[in-house]
Amino acid sequence: MATLPDLDPGTLPPETAALRARVRGFLADEPFTPRCDCWLTGADPAFSRRLGEQGWLGMTLPARYGGHGRSPLERFVVIEELLAAGAPVGAHWISDRQVGPSILANGTEEQRQEFLPAIARGECFFAIGMSEPDSGSDLASVRTRAERVPGGWRLHGTKVWTSGAHLAHAILVLARSASAGDDRHAGLSQFIVPLPAEGVTVRPILAMTGGHHFNEVVFDGAFVPDAMVLGQIGDGWRQVTAELAYERSGPERLLSTFLLIRLLAERADEAGARNAVGGLLARLWALRQASLGVAGALAQGRTPDLPAALVKDLGTRFEREVVETVRRHTAVEPDPGSADPLARALAEAVAQTPGFTLRGGTNEILRGIVARGLGVR
Ligand SMILES: Cc1cc2nc3c(=O)[nH]c(=O)nc-3n(C[C@H](O)[C@H](O)[C@H](O)COP(=O)(O)OP(=O)(O)OC[C@H]3O[C@@H](n4cnc5c(N)ncnc54)[C@H](O)[C@@H]3O)c2cc1C
Repeated sequence: MATLPDLDPGTLPPETAALRARVRGFLADEPFTPRCDCWLTGADPAFSRRLGEQGWLGMTLPARYGGHGRSPLERFVVIEELLAAGAPVGAHWISDRQVGPSILANGTEEQRQEFLPAIARGECFFAIGMSEPDSGSDLASVRTRAERVPGGWRLHGTKVWTSGAHLAHAILVLARSASAGDDRHAGLSQFIVPLPAEGVTVRPILAMTGGHHFNEVVFDGAFVPDAMVLGQIGDGWRQVTAELAYERSGPERLLSTFLLIRLLAERADEAGARNAVGGLLARLWALRQASLGVAGALAQGRTPDLPAALVKDLGTRFEREVVETVRRHTAVEPDPGSADPLARALAEAVAQTPGFTLRGGTNEILRGIVARGLGVR
């Protein structure tokens, strides 16, 4: 029998208002050019370090690991402001969002000491090596192999669509360490590989625009000592799926094209455009409440997989519709080299839109999760 997700619409504690004001004040003094999809394409390591100095990276990590012991809702406020401003947060996004929490949950004391303080300072960026040429949605079919050798493991295989690997100080790799047998989720493990490393080649995969965000990462017998296994050998599937819960429902699944709404609002001088801005903001507000609800459930230690999948499906489709709506209400054409911020932002959004519903698990896969969660066969 189908049941609706048990989730309160999110609310933020009143004390977060002062934090929001501080982030806004900081951003007003930062000399960046706002961009769409800034969390994937807007990398600026120096900006990441400045955020680290403010205490806005590794916010939820404990102080003994260089973090700040803040709540997920406080982190929500900070990243919401950074995304709304189109700030260059791409360099640290993956390490701050999911690798830090995963090392905290699964790592050894040595791994926590080595990586978490550096993540919180904005000095250690991670890439995620999950997808492969023949393995995306069906992640359990990964063919990158971890071969047991004295003192550790040797990795053989190829990862693709690896965002930011060319800037990363390390990559977290999902590999098969034992054959699957009857349970295809068994025999998978995660390995931390500091970069650059012998036996690892990072090659750019350029976007049609010429932009370099993706990479192919080839492992040709790279050695990983036992000390760099993350969690338990064979426990990779559980660890990876827990990581994906952090990945799917945050404000970055709603706000990748928010800059376009802002720019249209600034020049909405006819009723149709003003109505369009109002309609988009009303929908954004409802989605934001749902995203906040998931953040609140995560803060209570729950694993709200179904609502997180819903937020990502609805949110990423909304991000795409923003682009179409804005194009309908302006004569400005997308132009990456234009002096007009709207023309530039449109060009960035049009180029990145196809990825919105793919990255972090495609929407078709997410709808499967929702349908199964509601008991639909
Ligand atoms: C911008 C961007 C950044 C990315 N960054 C990273 C990264 O940093 N690290 C990383 O590891 N990966 C990354 N990826 C890869 C991403 O995770 C995969 O693209 C995604 O999981 C889909 O896998 P695939 O591309 O192999 O497509 P496929 O799995 O081959 O899917 C192709 C199509 O078939 C549909 N489909 C597949 N199976 C089913 C099913 N069972 N039911 C219904 N429909 C189905 C899919 O929905 C999709 O439309 C990134 C992708 C993008 C677009």
